[in-house]
This record gives sequence, structure tokens and C-alpha cells, in this order.
Amino acid sequence: MEEFLDPALGQVRVFLRHDDNKPRKLKYNLGDARVLTFGGAYSNHIRAVAEAGMRHGIETIGVIRGEEHLPLNPVLARAAACGMTLTYLDRATYRRKDTEEVLAGLRARWGEDVAILPEGGSNAAAVRGCAELPDEIEDDYDVICCPVGTGGTLAGIAAGLPEGRRALGFAVLKGARFLEEEVARLQREAYGRVSGNWSIDLGHHFGGYARTTPELEAFAARHGFERIYVAKMMYGILDLARQGAFAPGTRVVAVITGQPSTPVEVCGAPTGFDSGEPRWRR
Ligand SMILES: *Cc1c(COP(=O)(O)O)cnc(C)c1O
Repeated sequence: MEEFLDPALGQVRVFLRHDDNKPRKLKYNLGDARVLTFGGAYSNHIRAVAEAGMRHGIETIGVIRGEEHLPLNPVLARAAACGMTLTYLDRATYRRKDTEEVLAGLRARWGEDVAILPEGGSNAAAVRGCAELPDEIEDDYDVICCPVGTGGTLAGIAAGLPEGRRALGFAVLKGARFLEEEVARLQREAYGRVSGNWSIDLGHHFGGYARTTPELEAFAARHGFERIYVAKMMYGILDLARQGAFAPGTRVVAVITGQPSTPVEVCGAPTGFDSGEPRWRR
């Protein structure tokens, strides 16, 4: 694994493990012929489901928060080109998307047989997919870190850890204490128990989901980190190392779940757009 070097790390060693978590989360979620899921207009999850659907010959329906904006942004254009049917829910209804009422409406419209995957794709099957990651790391380490959006990735990685190692997640949302209960719930759903080997850092959200600061921007640009998730985690690791939160000699693996702005391909043909980042940063 590539080592991340920074004088602020002192005697803490950090190794980068590039690993796209979205396909892992979908691996055990694609047994059904038709899958419906939810996401914002720039959702990595929507894009990953559309791409997986195309690859596996599964019909996919993406329920997008808010109104339709044409032309489609690169993420949704890519999803549509992969064959995903896009439909929209106004924000108020979207907020209630997990209620029986809204779900019943979606089933009535899209068919009772449609498998419904939650926003972000975190469920028991996603946890089991992510639990396979630690086994694939051959090098020795003490702590494994990942960004936390909905918590499925952390729940899985922690569940898959060998004895004596710990998982540390970095919340990218503000006020995300609820994620602790969510990760526990996901582990219970997948395995019937909560592994006691993980924790969540709540202090490096930089203002909240998709928010940033000039300092974080500069850090992300300097190292070529994806901004919404990866840069916050990496900044957090450095910060904790600086504060002495890791014992000298600790070996940390940082799971790099996303890449910085790569060109979006519309089913083979690059569009020349940059990535699925919010419009305000263009
Ligand atoms: C979705 C995503 C995450 C968060 O994963 P969760 O399982 O929702 O916590 C982290 N990094 C990247 C790049 C993502 O796209």
C-alpha cells in the first residue's frame, strides 16, 4: 500500500487503501430483477446503482430528491444512459420517503415486486459486502479509517476486522451523533450483534455534508483527494495524529473510497464534464 507522508504524523504511519465502497455495498443487493433507490441529484449511490444495473442486466429506478432540471447534470445523465429510469419527489415528500405511506405509493406506481434500497444503499446486505474488505488487506495495521455518510461502510468494515484491530469512521455530516446508533443498528440487522471495535469522529465535518472550508479545499487540492468524503477523513487523521490520539508506532490504513473529479462517461463516451460535485463549486 502507498504510504501517506506528512511531518505532522510524527511516528504514526498512514497507508492508503484505494477501494470504491459503492460496488461492495451493492454486491449482495442485486439479487432482484428490479431495484428502486433514492438519492440527491449528485448522488454517487444513484450512479453506482445505475452502473451496476447495466452490468448485471437489472432494471433500475432512481427516485431523485427535488425537481427535474434539464439538461441532466453529469451524474444523472450517466445514470439515464445506463438505463436507469429517473423519477422525482418534491423535497417534503422525499423527507418522508421511508414512511409506509410514501413506500406504498412507490410500490403502487413501480410494481409490488420492486426491491427498495434505502438512500445511500446502507442495509444488512451492504454491510455484509463491506465486511469483505479487511480480509483483502494483507499488510499489518492497528486502525482502519473510512469516511461515514450513512454508516454502512463503517458497520461492515468493523464487522470484518480481525481480533485486536479497530475501525475509526469520520462523519462528513454535522451533528451526526445519530450515526452511532445507525451503525449499531446496521450491524444488528446484518449479524444480530454489535461489534465493539469501532468509533466515529464527529469533529471533522467542516460545516456539514458537501460543505467545505478554504483550508480543506487547499488540503484536498494539494493531495488530490475527493472532497466530500475522503479529504475530511484524511484531514481528520492528520489532526488526531497531531493531537497525539494515536500511540507512537500506530499503523493506520485509510480507505480511500472515492476519486477526485474524474470525467464522467456516458456509457462509453466521455462527456468532458467534471464529476458529480454540487453545482455551487463549478
Ligand atoms: C457513499 C460514500 C461514502 C460513505 O459510505 P456510507 O456507507 O454511506 O457511510 C464514503 N465515501 C465515498 C466516496 C462515497 O461515495
